[in-house]
Amino acid sequence: MYIVPEKEIAALMGREASFAAVESVFSAMSSKDAYNFPVIREAIGHADALYGFKSGFDRKSLALGLKSGGYWPGNEAKGLTNHQSTVILFDADTGKVKALVGGNLLTALRTAAASSVSIKHLAPKNAKVLGMIGAGHQSTFQMRAAVEQRDFEKVIGWNYHPEMLSRLADLAEELGLPFEAVELDRLGAEADVIISITSAFAPSLMDAQVTGGTHIACMGTDTVGKQEVEATLVARATVFTDEIAQSISLGETQHAIADGTLKQADIIELGAVINGDHPGRKSDDELTLFDGTGVGLQDLAVASSVVDLAIEKGVAIEVDF
Ligand code: NAD
Repeated sequence: MYIVPEKEIAALMGREASFAAVESVFSAMSSKDAYNFPVIREAIGHADALYGFKSGFDRKSLALGLKSGGYWPGNEAKGLTNHQSTVILFDADTGKVKALVGGNLLTALRTAAASSVSIKHLAPKNAKVLGMIGAGHQSTFQMRAAVEQRDFEKVIGWNYHPEMLSRLADLAEELGLPFEAVELDRLGAEADVIISITSAFAPSLMDAQVTGGTHIACMGTDTVGKQEVEATLVARATVFTDEIAQSISLGETQHAIADGTLKQADIIELGAVINGDHPGRKSDDELTLFDGTGVGLQDLAVASSVVDLAIEKGVAIEVDF
């Protein structure tokens, strides 16, 4: 088997390859060539941690395996990222373990790639203002990937902990874009694309705050009980997701589904748009929402790419196992 340590990932995998891997796996999921197994994600009653497994199989690429790990909110104080994860890949023909891959940076890259794929396929073509809700670890990856999809002229941002907004301001400056910290009323009214990436259990962005043909990528809700935007906003939007089963159970749509204002049948897989089976956005004033719950197949797709690159570049550690 091969080991690709976390420290090697940055030099091997970039945004472009992550985008291609994620777009392709969303397409395979929609055409039923790839499927995710049910997710396990539990509060373990220790260190405030959420721990679980995400797994799946892609019959086309033969990516088989799982990502295990979760979210440890106290890690940042210890100099570690709050998300900790590892991907294990198996040989689909024999079941033998194939590779052990550091999953931290890959998680950020594949999550940013997912919202970026949604922006490519669903955001208004002339989107100019990017609104960011959340300024945690994932937020900078999200912003970097988003700005590659449209000619944004400005970034506006809000965060529950306003002192963290300098992270967004610094990156916007690096990207050559003006940045302004705003209240959510202005963010909802002015942003053409909104990315929400927080660990909240109550909505920040309310229905009345969003006007016009915005595209919203809700990327933070990946657990039962979490919520970033008001349920009536979800119910009002044309809703797309990576995977419907995850969306309604642990994603952003769980609340609108529970109160009956959104029907499962009204949720569209983003892969259907990628494959040309659904038109996606139909007009400039349509409100679209992508519920990016984060599927195991995304992890397997980027990890498989990394293993190939690591072998090619001679940095994969080979172990007789
Ligand atoms: P982080 O801990 O670095 O940042 C957390 C963010 O949430 C900060 O901006 C913080 O200010 C904000 N926040 C905290 N409490 C809040 C509250 N009560 N209301 C509103 N905002 C609040 O975390 P991160 O690594 O940036 O991850 C953010 C979220 O994204 C987490 O919930 C994580 O589980 C989720 N996530 C989802 C995917 C996916 O594929 N969908 C992948 C990775 C992470």
